[in-house]
Amino acid sequence: MSLCNMAISELHELLRKKKISSLEITTQYLNRIKQTDDKINSFITVLEEDAVNHAIEADKIISKNDDFSALTGIPVGIKDLISTKDVRTTCGSKILHNYSPPYDATVIRKLKENNAVIVGKLNMDEFAMGSSTETSYFGATKNPWDTDRIPGGSSGGCASSVAARQCAASLGSDTGGSIRQPAACCGVVGFKPTYGRVSRFGLIAFASSLDQIGTFSIDTRDCAIMLNAVCGHDPADSTSAKLKVPDFTKALVNDVRGMRIGIPREYFIEGIDAEVLKAVNDSIELYRKLGATIVDIDLPHTKYAVAVYYIIATAEASSNLARYDGVKYGYRAKDANDLLDMYCKTRTQGFGAEVKRRIMLGTYVLSSGYYDAYYLRAQKVRTLITKDFRDAFEKCDVILTPTAPTAAFKIGEKTSDPLQMYLSDIFTISANLAGICGASIPCGFTSDGLPVGLQLLAKHFDESLIIQAAHTFEQNTDYHKKLPDLG
Ligand code: GLN
Repeated sequence: MSLCNMAISELHELLRKKKISSLEITTQYLNRIKQTDDKINSFITVLEEDAVNHAIEADKIISKNDDFSALTGIPVGIKDLISTKDVRTTCGSKILHNYSPPYDATVIRKLKENNAVIVGKLNMDEFAMGSSTETSYFGATKNPWDTDRIPGGSSGGCASSVAARQCAASLGSDTGGSIRQPAACCGVVGFKPTYGRVSRFGLIAFASSLDQIGTFSIDTRDCAIMLNAVCGHDPADSTSAKLKVPDFTKALVNDVRGMRIGIPREYFIEGIDAEVLKAVNDSIELYRKLGATIVDIDLPHTKYAVAVYYIIATAEASSNLARYDGVKYGYRAKDANDLLDMYCKTRTQGFGAEVKRRIMLGTYVLSSGYYDAYYLRAQKVRTLITKDFRDAFEKCDVILTPTAPTAAFKIGEKTSDPLQMYLSDIFTISANLAGICGASIPCGFTSDGLPVGLQLLAKHFDESLIIQAAHTFEQNTDYHKKLPDLG
């Protein structure tokens, strides 16, 4: 029996009936990683021994209890910028290639409390800056649907590992689309909760006002299970919201009758691939048939989103990344003449080209003389983008858009043109600027057999509505059931 192809909910049922053990599940996933990761490179670190030990622990808990959490004994993967105690956490960068944090991120603590089995740390664009997972110090990740193509980014390893069934689900981060865009490229469900819904304690910062941890899974039910485990207030993160978290599995209702789905005209622009557009338009028609009310909405400041994002995100990154200086931890350049020389050489050798570009851009927009013209103005436009959503959500419950303008592109296609790369996130960035929640779900395939993603957005803390809309879509389609053939 291939356990790797099953959803968490199915594995949980089998565990409950004592038909299988976590050790069997975990062994199958570890074998699957061994068989497939040469081709895909989803993992930076595989935790074989730890995973086996945790599986044995989980089996003990299962044998003593009938009532155990839905994640007990389930193998999951973690993006390599979420701190794991005594386990290397690299951010896909040379500068942290040998860094093991002395503590667990809050989300890791929560997964451990749920007795999930962490199988490894997943590949990503260096410091989560990118849309293709090509900038990792540990080599590019490949798309399991076509290994000549990118898996999306920056959480490329999170998406590829779930699509290739190397783990049941994974945790990633989304600053401007890094969960939703790779989920779209790899044909899985990616969920970015509202800013503040999941603790960022232990998430290595890229742009702190935009970063959010979220989930990758094979379907919406598994997404709800993962969200239930990781959401909630955390005193260790001052931006974490003091709100009760609903049971997201309660939103797994197959019904969108009366739900108002907003279609923003600004997202249906020239440049969207015709097959992506068709899949999204067919999805709108399906929702209409299922009884949703389709309404036109306006998000007039959308056109400024990419520019605003690349000012705010780089400004915050330039400040956050100042801590990597070779003094306290991480990589340190050898042969320095003095302290300043050591800083310079460490950062020159430790960071890749894209990270350096962002640090320079961010330093520039914050410098005196330019601060008002760029950073301050970007903050004002950010407020207008947030207000656009507030106004739109007066008219609709959920907003529907394509997740990305194209399906997965070829490896190397955009590496020499950063602007083209930045445009991959044109539909996802605004949700981070506004802090609202969003998901990408599989909604079709191109004629080349590449998955297409549908983005669903809802207002702050309305994750349940997205889950309901996504679950209803899944109950009436079977795109999410298809898996790539890796031989
Ligand atoms: N691709 C975007 C960027 O490069 C978003 C990355 C992210 O969400 N971490 O900044």
